[in-house]
Amino acid sequence: MKKSSILITLIHVLALGGAAGQQKQTIYLSGYTFTPGKKEIGIVKLTDNDQVKAITISGTDAASFRTGKGSSLLLNKKVKPDVKWMDITITAHTASGSDISGDFRIVRDEFIHNTVIAHRGAWKNTGTPQNSIASLKNAVAIGCEGSEFDVHLTSDSVLIINHDDVIQGLPIEKTSSAELLQLKLSNGETLPTLKDYLTAGIDQNKTRLILEIKPSVISSERGIALTHKVIGMVRACRAEAWVDYISFDYDICKEVLKLAPPAQVTYLKGDKDPAQLQADHLTGLDYHFSVMQKNPGWIKDAHDRKLTVNVWTVDDGQLMDWLIGEKADYITTNEPELLLKKLKQ
Ligand code: MG
Repeated sequence: MKKSSILITLIHVLALGGAAGQQKQTIYLSGYTFTPGKKEIGIVKLTDNDQVKAITISGTDAASFRTGKGSSLLLNKKVKPDVKWMDITITAHTASGSDISGDFRIVRDEFIHNTVIAHRGAWKNTGTPQNSIASLKNAVAIGCEGSEFDVHLTSDSVLIINHDDVIQGLPIEKTSSAELLQLKLSNGETLPTLKDYLTAGIDQNKTRLILEIKPSVISSERGIALTHKVIGMVRACRAEAWVDYISFDYDICKEVLKLAPPAQVTYLKGDKDPAQLQADHLTGLDYHFSVMQKNPGWIKDAHDRKLTVNVWTVDDGQLMDWLIGEKADYITTNEPELLLKKLKQ
């Protein structure tokens, strides 16, 4: 390797290490939704276990909230029926003497519970490209519980939505965002960034956003740097109420739990049993149907451990019937229309 490329590699590693290593103290809530008639929203917490002594609420909709015992956030008054979400800033005054603030969107809980997760959006029967904003909007329009999508990191650390690590011949991790964002999907849409995708996805409060963090093809450090960027973007977009996380990389799953502790985080690879997932505090499993066929006891075992069960990618009607009968919590499919029809029968 030439000296110049060694230097560039070293700078690259240091930059990624810095991004992954900068785990600042951050404020989060144990819940981000409200239900009319119920006071409790969630508990205000800090990622480094510093104790919250008191909290202050400010911002546009502060009057709708108050603080309760044990750093809890409570609904203060009746919310008009047309209000879908409210924006507040919470400042935690900590035992160590610092003040930590965060902006949050508290969302009316009208999320659908019908088990249907559209795999890369509802694209197959709608003529839209996979992982496009159009496919996400189709999943929302037909009433899916969730819409899944995949996130990669460009060479200049921009978050891009695509399934494969190569798009139109360009390896995403080795290509700049300037070049990638010139690309058009088959429907004319520009290749979406995570920011574009979240902005489109939080325009409603019915369908959850199932965010798959793709492992890096370059290094595990880069996968962790991607994870930090993703959590930062979800926080910046105030999208916590909508987003659940999935990954094939177990270390990425555990990193999400560190950075955003109340998040729903499920593992995709299929090589850990429910006991292991519970021990590592994951919230569920999300395995290929062949793994569930080989281990039919895992659905009950997972449920007994309060873990959720998602199964991918289920396009066959008989398999859908089996999983509906087994009470899988979620079924990820390229055929959400068929699954919705079955569930209505
Ligand atoms: Mg995926």
